[in-house]
Amino acid sequence: MAFNIVVCAKQVPDTNEIKIDPVKKTLIREGVPSILNHDDANALEEALKIKDKWPDTHITVVSMGPPQAKDLLIECLAMGADKAVLASDRALGGSDTWATSNALAAAIEKIGAYDLIFAGRQAIDGDTAQVGPQMAEKLGIPQVTYVKEFEIADDRKTITVKRALEDGYELIEIKTPCMLTAIKELNTPRYMSIGGIYDAVNAEIPVWGAADLGVDPDKEVGLEASPTNVYRSFTPVPKGKGVMIETDSDKETADKLIVGLKSKHVI
Ligand SMILES: Cc1cc2nc3c(=O)[nH]c(=O)nc-3n(C[C@H](O)[C@H](O)[C@H](O)COP(=O)(O)OP(=O)(O)OC[C@H]3O[C@@H](n4cnc5c(N)ncnc54)[C@H](O)[C@@H]3O)c2cc1C
Repeated sequence: MAFNIVVCAKQVPDTNEIKIDPVKKTLIREGVPSILNHDDANALEEALKIKDKWPDTHITVVSMGPPQAKDLLIECLAMGADKAVLASDRALGGSDTWATSNALAAAIEKIGAYDLIFAGRQAIDGDTAQVGPQMAEKLGIPQVTYVKEFEIADDRKTITVKRALEDGYELIEIKTPCMLTAIKELNTPRYMSIGGIYDAVNAEIPVWGAADLGVDPDKEVGLEASPTNVYRSFTPVPKGKGVMIETDSDKETADKLIVGLKSKHVI
């Protein structure tokens, strides 16, 4: 029996290109150089390693985003994924994490049978790390986040996971079907292969809208249905250059610091 993996991959603005829509207060994505979210590349790489070990593994990559997100899916196919689908519809625009996980859960159910869902720990733009766990809740499956290592049992029914903690790790056993979120320590993603690129650019990538997903644009997805509205987002003004106080003694350093703080009326 094939082992079915779904990888969730998000297209994110290349970090130097973050632009905020002053009216909708959401990220401007159209026409902005974008990349495959780093942690999602690790999630895909881990799925490909499973396929290296078990060739009957089938990998589907799903993304929700504007039409240009197809480029990211071509990249994932060129790395070795078997299939890719794009959830794209104006009605999905501006979705917060709750709404995004509604759309992705619906897409995953439409894809069909799965044994493992692999998401990234977090996306470098929204940075909430919420979508993975929310999807698992919606699909009613167990989940482990911050996966730094894991072992799938030969029967492919049980996975033993090392979950990263700040000061160590947890060892967790989980039954499939389940959802895991990848961190960058997990692996080093492979490059696209020439043959893979050639096949990927000609691959058929279905695009599913809200109607195809069976989600309600008024209640489940999109800016209006999103419980979280970004009140204000802005690029913080860079702070001035700090002052290094270096002297031969701590007392001298402390004295100089006090003079400096007094001159700025901090104390
Ligand atoms: C600056 C900023 C702040 C925001 N703050 C919030 C907030 O506080 N609360 C809130 O609800 N929304 C917030 N949003 C909106 C949020 O970014 C979007 O809902 C987004 O689609 C998902 O959240 P995320 O980027 O944090 O993803 P995360 O939860 O960090 O993503 C985790 C993983 O889920 C998968 N995933 C996430 N999005 C997609 C996708 N579109 N397609 C495929 N896989 C995906 C990927 O594998 C990813 O690695 C914010 C957006 C911005 C730009």
